[in-house]
Amino acid sequence: MRLALCLLAALLAPALSARTILAIGAHAGDMELTCGALLAHQSRLGDRVVLLHLSLGERGKPGVPPETYAAQKKREAEAAAKALGAEVLFGPWQDGDVPTTDEAARWVAAQIKTVQPNLVLTHWKNSIHKDHAAAHRLVVNAVLFAAIEGTRTVRSVYYAENWEDSEAFQPYLYFAVEDRDAEDWHKAALAYEFTHAPFSGFDYIRYYDGLRMVRGAEARRRLAIAFDIEPTGKRRVLDALP
Ligand SMILES: [Zn+2]
Repeated sequence: MRLALCLLAALLAPALSARTILAIGAHAGDMELTCGALLAHQSRLGDRVVLLHLSLGERGKPGVPPETYAAQKKREAEAAAKALGAEVLFGPWQDGDVPTTDEAARWVAAQIKTVQPNLVLTHWKNSIHKDHAAAHRLVVNAVLFAAIEGTRTVRSVYYAENWEDSEAFQPYLYFAVEDRDAEDWHKAALAYEFTHAPFSGFDYIRYYDGLRMVRGAEARRRLAIAFDIEPTGKRRVLDALP
């Protein structure tokens, strides 16, 4: 009987400890490139991982109508999510038009209410791309709106390291990345044409491969990815010298 109870507890343990992670990016591709290795890792551990792309990023391919590229980006986003073991949701906004209104934040809050995440990942507050900065503001407000309306599942919000969002970003939390996480990241990243096509003008694969090595060296691990958090979250209060 005791053995049966132990076996039952062991079977239930992963389910009981499983988290739900919601990664919210301005454009399809943002969260996979910045957080994909962690998302793959956590998915393998049994967590539920959900990607929410506020826009498809459909205005990024020169000479291709946004409607045509949107269809391509949606297919690519679905393939990338599959490579990471994630579900994928799409927002209603167009590339370049991600708003910062309370109405938009309430739409994101409704997604939070539906998904019930414990951890939310999104952009850092500063960016050379207005949609990224808008996504940050939307998510911060959405977490607040969701909490006010009774959804208090979100325990943490982490900000991803993105080459476009680097101003004043300080790596604070480091997560070790295994080779198989990096392999899944590669599958997800390569699902998007823009990561390796000349038209984007940026070598995403080389940048994020290199970044994982740099953050890994800093963390005394082979590979790692880093996140920042709200400055108030870094406050430590002690009653005596440690
Ligand atoms: Zn973006």
